[in-house]
Amino acid sequence: MRVNQIPEEGKDVTLKVDVKKANRYFSLLKNSDFSAASDVEGRVRVWSKDGMVIVEGDVSVELELTCSRCLGHFRYPVLHHFRSIYSPFQEICQEEDLELKPYDMDVSIYNGVELDLENVLYEQVFLGMPAQALCRPECKGLCSSCGANLNDGPCSCAAAPRFSPFDVLKNLKLKG
Ligand SMILES: [Zn+2]
Ligand SMILES: [Zn+2]
Repeated sequence: MRVNQIPEEGKDVTLKVDVKKANRYFSLLKNSDFSAASDVEGRVRVWSKDGMVIVEGDVSVELELTCSRCLGHFRYPVLHHFRSIYSPFQEICQEEDLELKPYDMDVSIYNGVELDLENVLYEQVFLGMPAQALCRPECKGLCSSCGANLNDGPCSCAAAPRFSPFDVLKNLKLKG
């Protein structure tokens, strides 16, 4: 979206990124162990003043994530409300006029001519993702010895007697 076409009083924008296109983008990321299971939809309002752009609204998408404990895939609906501020690259490089630069706000930079709203949505999808991907809060994960998925029931390792360093202490006490 060209910034000189954004009115100061704001403009509503609805956009949808096709699931295939979104996944092409996500698959280019390093260590991405997730994918989109639906189109990425955005409903935002954009304002522009003196080259600064504000984007506020919602992004929604259904993601397929990998559980960090059991490595199973599960669906996770992201509905994330956000407000982002974009400043043209040149402005952020000027060191004077610090008062005009809201460094303590979440300001990103852009090229000053065009703001790619699709990228804005992708960025917000990441921010809407859970800090820890878990298929369910009580996921039992995988057995560290045999690799069985403990959500499917206990593995045979659980039945085997486990050596505990405290067993030695128990024996010592008996002798004393
Ligand atoms: Zn899990
Ligand atoms: Zn096991």
